[in-house]
Amino acid sequence: MPELPEVETIVQGLRKEGLIGLKVKRALVYWERSLADHSSSSFSHRIVEQTIVDITRKGKFLVFSLDQDTLLVHLRMTGKFFVEDQGAAIHPHERIRLCLSDHRILRYEDQRKFGKWYLLSDPEEVLHKIGIEPLSRDFTLIAFKRLLENSNRQIKPFLLDQHYIAGLGNIYVDEALWEAKIHPLRSIQSLNEKEKALLHRAIILVLKKGVANSGTSLGAYRSNYLSVAGRRGSNQQDLKVFRREGLSCSRCNGIIKKIVVAQRGTHICPICQDAPITILT
Ligand SMILES: [Zn+2]
Repeated sequence: MPELPEVETIVQGLRKEGLIGLKVKRALVYWERSLADHSSSSFSHRIVEQTIVDITRKGKFLVFSLDQDTLLVHLRMTGKFFVEDQGAAIHPHERIRLCLSDHRILRYEDQRKFGKWYLLSDPEEVLHKIGIEPLSRDFTLIAFKRLLENSNRQIKPFLLDQHYIAGLGNIYVDEALWEAKIHPLRSIQSLNEKEKALLHRAIILVLKKGVANSGTSLGAYRSNYLSVAGRRGSNQQDLKVFRREGLSCSRCNGIIKKIVVAQRGTHICPICQDAPITILT
């Protein structure tokens, strides 16, 4: 599933393609349920003749600012964007196509069909629930500690919850917890000041590395995440624990294990990341 670094890479790719300033001339919807809040005809009617003014990101949402509305896209499992010439044949997993004023198309593919498009006059209707941006200046150690203050959840489900910190998913949470040497089942209240500081740094570090590596592409060639240019990211080569069960930890040579936390497959080094006392008894 695309997380912050993958969505950021896609945003950068779309900007690089020169989409800003182009007008939507036609919208073709091949799978209506990709639209969260419109029928195909009302979506087409509303988006046509709007100009793309900006393309940014909020958490895992792509944010297309149009001259009247905002188009939000959540890629969920397998959503992907490509920019091609208008004559391009329809791809079997193509769900929506926007024909643009420079005779190119913005093609949206989504094999698993979980992705959603929202066309809204006020994007805050959806975005108000999204927490702090971990790569923004607002994500200070003080802000992070304040978020942790009132919770006694386990740390992994807390980090996955988009209401607190935006953009983290299974890959980067497992990587950040390994980096900070914190077991994913630890309760927030059990973390000491040093661990909180290490985790804060680790979150920023793994996300920045993910962006620098143009994201993480897992699985077979087209199944997971590709950039707008159709390239795989390279961050999978730099992962320390995620999907590395049975391999050795690069820090201590321990064997990486897969466990389940909050119903999610979770990867840890049992030597670097001490289990909480309650599950040792
Ligand atoms: Zn280790």
